[in-house]
Amino acid sequence: MTDTEENDNLFNDLPEDIRRGIADLGWKDPMPVQSQAIPVMRRGGDLIVQAQTGSGKTGAFGIPIATDVDPELAAPQALVLAPTRELASQISKELIALGEHRGLRCLPVYGGTAYGPQVEALEEGVHVIVGTPGRILDHLGAGRMSFDDVKMVVFDEADELLSLGFWPDMKEIRSYLPEKRQSCLFSATMPEKVLALSRAFLHEPEFISLVEGHSSPSEIDHFFYLTTAQEKEANLRRILEYEDPDSAIIFCNTKDDVRFVTSYLQRYGFDADQISGDLTQVAREKAMSRIKAGTLRFLVATDVAARGIDISDLSHVISYAAPDSAEVYVHRTGRTGRAGKAGTALSLISGLDVGSFRNLQKVNRIEVLERPLPTEADLLERVRERLANKVEHEIRHLSPRDRAFHIERLVPLVKSMTSSEEGLRELAAICGSYLQEHKPDTGVHDDPPEADSETASDRPADDRPRGRRRSGGGGGRGGGGGGRRGGGRRR
Ligand code: AMP
Repeated sequence: MTDTEENDNLFNDLPEDIRRGIADLGWKDPMPVQSQAIPVMRRGGDLIVQAQTGSGKTGAFGIPIATDVDPELAAPQALVLAPTRELASQISKELIALGEHRGLRCLPVYGGTAYGPQVEALEEGVHVIVGTPGRILDHLGAGRMSFDDVKMVVFDEADELLSLGFWPDMKEIRSYLPEKRQSCLFSATMPEKVLALSRAFLHEPEFISLVEGHSSPSEIDHFFYLTTAQEKEANLRRILEYEDPDSAIIFCNTKDDVRFVTSYLQRYGFDADQISGDLTQVAREKAMSRIKAGTLRFLVATDVAARGIDISDLSHVISYAAPDSAEVYVHRTGRTGRAGKAGTALSLISGLDVGSFRNLQKVNRIEVLERPLPTEADLLERVRERLANKVEHEIRHLSPRDRAFHIERLVPLVKSMTSSEEGLRELAAICGSYLQEHKPDTGVHDDPPEADSETASDRPADDRPRGRRRSGGGGGRGGGGGGRRGGGRRR
């Protein structure tokens, strides 16, 4: 049987109403991710798929969801968790189109939008919920939504869900899900934290990879950014703001660069310190013990100064300049992803160094994917997501009395602030320091599911997100996964 015949069969096997939805979208043949994932999903097995955006992955889970929905049952039967509002709304549109002729009702549920229309839709009855974990928990907690009839759960862009700090919320959602269900996880990258998530939610999953050369899960994700020499420090700042690492060592090739980068980052409010051969032993030891203790976020160093120091718990290793040799790259990146934890290695590479950097990848047999530099619009969108996630997470844990006192009472005040330029600036400053002040404790690897003995029937009361830890400087929560930005796209 040729590929085409096989592909034709896959769509032709579907019920007529779903085939019409597919035809309305203009899809003729299944894309590879669909050919591989749809049969597994329709058989009812759990599944992990490594695939990039653009591969047709929404259809890969959207078609089985639309096919399995019982239009007569006015209750959520499938749940899709997505990291951002934008993605949730895209998925929802595609699901609505796929299920159009079946009368599928799909509700996007995400923060930063009015509750009214969501509540109305829930009252009327919906079949599929697509949304960000925080707002979904709001509705669950208030009893406006039930997952008792959910048969399928999909985690889309799982790496991004974890990077945006949704782990505690996802655990809480788990307690509302029926134990007997199908779960599928889609992710562009497969760091350890994503696999830990799959262990917590999936049962004996099949694994499908559509990412070339990236088929086996790895503990360190390697990415590089192309940058001009002139804009390097500004680009480093943007990358740190966008990625928002928990902790990182930033390697420079010269002592001058170490001094320059440290003072540049400090000037922009990042919690950064340096170690270089120029410093006294006391000063070096102080900086090293601070990063080890987790009270310093960014340590800037040369390879020589960092030699022999045992820092094992860094979420990111950043090369401000390309390493001189393949061996140095391995030494640098070996400081993250240790002890089974997930790590991210980022390198800023100028045009001149691209050739030797690619060569170094070949020698080390490591694939380093190119990532586009975040634009200002990307940064603002990220900040918006972080604000919405953090605020919703915190509001959800307030009592009605505290909500009235700390929030509702202030609404008229905030409203009046938005009517003047000065007031708007004050609000912007409040947002900025709110994001900087606290980092919610959200890393999946801080709370490994293997060590997590709870079962799906545990209630959320046992499962409250833990207290926040303080952290200085440089943007709020967010961080590293490859997600939509991986895969060597170039701007
Ligand atoms: P996704 O990876 O889900 O974001 O999909 C990328 C794009 O591919 C979207 O614009 C989809 O509408 C489109 N697409 C998905 N499946 C198919 C298909 N079988 N044939 C043609 N286009 C498709």
